[in-house]
This record gives sequence, structure tokens and C-alpha cells, in this order.
Amino acid sequence: MQSEHNRPRWDPRVELGLPEPLGAVIDGEWSGTDAAETLCVRDPADLREIAVVAEGDADQVDGAVRSAEKAYRGAWRAADATTRGRILTALADTIRSHAETLARLETVDTGKPLSQARSDVETSARYFEYYAGVADKILGDTLPQPAGSFAYTVREPYGVVAHVTPWNSPLSQMCRGLAPSLAAGNTVVVKPSEVTPLSSLVAARLFAAAGLPLGVCNVVPGRGPTTGAALVAHPLVRHVSFTGSVATGREILRSAAAGIVPCNLELGGKSPTLVFPDADLDAAARAGAMAVVRNSGQSCFATTRLIVHRSIHDAFVERVRAHVGRLSVGHGLDDPDLGPLASAEQLDKVVGYLDAAREEGARVAIGGSRPGGAPAGYFLEPTVLVDVANGMRVAREEIFGPVQSVLSFDTEDEAVAMANDSDYGLAAGVFTGSLSVAHRVAARLEAGQVQVNKYPAGGVDTPFGGYKKSGIGREKGLEALLHYTQLKTVIIELS
Ligand code: NAD
Repeated sequence: MQSEHNRPRWDPRVELGLPEPLGAVIDGEWSGTDAAETLCVRDPADLREIAVVAEGDADQVDGAVRSAEKAYRGAWRAADATTRGRILTALADTIRSHAETLARLETVDTGKPLSQARSDVETSARYFEYYAGVADKILGDTLPQPAGSFAYTVREPYGVVAHVTPWNSPLSQMCRGLAPSLAAGNTVVVKPSEVTPLSSLVAARLFAAAGLPLGVCNVVPGRGPTTGAALVAHPLVRHVSFTGSVATGREILRSAAAGIVPCNLELGGKSPTLVFPDADLDAAARAGAMAVVRNSGQSCFATTRLIVHRSIHDAFVERVRAHVGRLSVGHGLDDPDLGPLASAEQLDKVVGYLDAAREEGARVAIGGSRPGGAPAGYFLEPTVLVDVANGMRVAREEIFGPVQSVLSFDTEDEAVAMANDSDYGLAAGVFTGSLSVAHRVAARLEAGQVQVNKYPAGGVDTPFGGYKKSGIGREKGLEALLHYTQLKTVIIELS
């Protein structure tokens, strides 16, 4: 546990000159700062207040959506695809030129170590860079027709797209959906998590200053059941992109069903990694440790079921223990390996899973407690559980904390069956020295993404999304553009 005393306080209100309370960002300006309800935002590492945010009410949401609708019919429609691409490039540039500030903001808001926050900021810039390059390459088809007739398709934007995002990587989650939405010609209203609203608000101001036409990206902070629900149900919202839990995803679908509005849902995961006897055990063990490092395990695609061949089980567990034993925990600004969890609620939930695991017969190989000498923050030791069976709660439910579980298998069929015996299907890993095992198992795994011999792998260009309860639709890559456009077919009688 690193000391907080060596570190000068980094207060976003002072560093960025932020108003108090922070309101929504509509038409590039702060708005609604006189709202009746406010939310206190705290640094989860030391519980110091870092901002007060005004909660967006239904009027605020309506104002944000109407502004986005006006921009959609006005400035953004007038911007041709090449112009949109150039503006997206400018947004990538502005993120990079404010990278250190955005990273520090993300660190004090989410608790994540500075290096991870810097990497998230760079990923955010990459989303704009990537989709800037495809804005003028969103193509249609010509369709073979009988003589005298001509037909073609065009992909058109929806209009206003609502983005509702979670608290683990707020800036990169926002940019992941924002960049393809804007490239395709939509405008957006973002509702960031009430736990971590700061980087989304600050980024919206930076985007307006960098030349994004006013109203194209508005951000309204607030709680889910109030601000979020009002946004998703707004009659001018034509598409919803949601990242978060399965329970909220269900609510979003219900609301969208009333308005017949299409949805992208990026939900939770319980991603397995299969480790075969011929695998590079160190690489697999590193992947197992990374699952608890990234965002302190608060990552949807974290591989949290290591399904290991019985013949290498003990040697493998030793390697994972060694990796995890070297990890440091501390305040994100000191850049340790792990920061705190994002909230008291999340810490309680994860501790509850550890209790359940012990009761069900799992054994703690390392970790399992709150670190000694921890200050007030929501810290938990990185933990590895062994003797885990696939029926236990820790193997079935998403923990979203620094907890790794090791299970064992005897045959390939058994390994695949265990991996697929889950409500989730977001991602899966395979570690093997055999190309045929890799391809055969990848084909049999029920997951939206399979990562072989490296985990995590992939970037902004590799489509991402879930099978089963992990979601509907895909983000990232060219695939995302299919979700942020609708197809029009034009048939012309030539005679
Ligand atoms: P959450 O579902 O509690 O909240 C997500 C967002 O939804 C927040 O902004 C919240 O305010 C809002 N919300 C809550 N109720 C709402 C309602 N009734 N109407 C509209 N909006 C509402 O999720 P969380 O706890 O913030 O995030 C953790 C979850 O997110 C985990 O399950 C994790 O796996 C998932 N996640 C998925 C991905 C992915 O890409 N698949 C990425 C990150 C996180």
C-alpha cells in the first residue's frame, strides 16, 4: 500500500477551473447549474470530494435532445462526410493535447492508476482517428435489377443517438460510441455514470472548442433511473447505445420497446480462458493477473474464469500467485498496479462474493482481504481463488473486482462445456501451442470475441460485443457503423 502523504492533492476544480456545481454541457456551454438535485463526486482512493454535479432533470434532458436534433438537421447534416472526418481528426488531436489533464481527471474520478488512465485517453483519441478515416467510406451497394430498373442502397444516420455509459472507463466508453455515431452523421446526447461524470463533461467542452458544431455532442449528468430513463424515453431519440449491467440493459430495452427504438447493448461478462498443457504458462499466468489489474478487475471483458488442464494446474497457480504477489495497490496518482474500487457499494459487493466463495468451498490462494494500513478508500487486495467449481456464485456471476478464479479440466470437451456453461458470452481466451486446438476451440466457444495466446488483445478496430446475456450488437471496428446507420434502398424505373 503506497502512502498518500507524498502526493500533492490534484483537485480538478482548481486545476481545470471547473464551476461548482458542474451542470450539463449543452451547445458547448455549462447549463442547468441551478438544478434542485446535486451529486457529490469523490475520489474513491481517499474519499475527498472532487466535484459537485447538478443532476439533469427532464427539462434539461429535453433541452439537450432538442439541441442535438437541431444540430442534426442543421450544422451536422450540412457537414459532408469528408468534413466530418476532418472534425473527428481534430477531436483526436484535442484529446491528445489535453491527455495528461484528462488522465489525471479520470484517475481521481475512477480510482484507476495513472498509466491505465493514460492508456484509456490514448484509446479515446484512437477511436476518433479510426472513424475519421472511414467517415467518407460508408458505402452502399448497387443491386442487380430487371432491364429498365436501377436500384441502390445508402446508409443514413438515425438522428439523435443516446449514449448511456458506466463508470469503469468513462472517457473511452463515451468515445467508443461517439466516434462512429458522429462519423455516420448522427448527433448524440451522453448520460455518463453518476459515479464518474467528470471526463465526459470536460471532453464535451473540449470538443466544442476544437470545432465540433454546437449541439452535436451534449452531455447530461445525473442518476440512471431519473436522468438516464428520461433520455432513453425521449421521443426524439432514434437510437440508444447502452453500456452497463444486464439489469439496466433490460430496463433500457423495455423503454426502447415502447418507442420502437433500436438499441446496442454492451453488458457484463464472465469470460473464461482455457489453458492447455502445451501453452506458454507464463503468458497465460500474466493474462490471469491482468484480469485483476485492469481497473482493479472492474472490466467487462476481464477473463475471470481460468479453466486450466489438471496436469498443469499447480504449476500454473504458482505462476499466477507469483504475478499477483508482486502487484502494488495504492492511490491512482501514485501509479501503482491497482487502485481502489469505484464505490463503497462495489467494494461491499466484491467482499460479499469473497465470503460466498469461502462458504461454497473455494480456497484463497493469495489476497482476500482489505490491504493493511489502507486509508479511507475502497481498496481490496488482488485475490486468486482456487478449488472453484463452475456452479459456484463466483464462477457464475460477474464480480467486477480484483478477484480471479481457477478451475480445472481433464478433456477439451469438458473445458469447452465449462466455458460455455454461463449466462454470459462477451469474450473468451485460449492458450495453447497448437494451431489446430486454437482454431477448433475458438469455433466452439460461445463468445463475441476469442483471444488466442494473449489477453487482453485487440484494439479500436476489432469488433466487440456479446453473445447471450452479454449484449446485442457490436461496438468498435467497421461493424459498429452498421449499428449507427440505417439502410435505405432506392429503386428507380428508368423507362
Ligand atoms: P449500471 O447498469 O448500473 O449503469 C450503467 C449506466 O446506466 C449508468 O450511467 C447509470 O446511471 C445508467 N442507468 C441506470 N439505470 C438506468 C435506467 N433505468 N435508465 C437509464 N439509464 C440507467 O452499470 P455500472 O455499474 O455503471 O457498470 C458496470 C457494468 O457495466 C458491468 O456489468 C460491466 O460488465 C458493464 N460494462 C460492460 C462493458 C461492455 O463493453 N460490454 C463495458 C464496461 C462495463
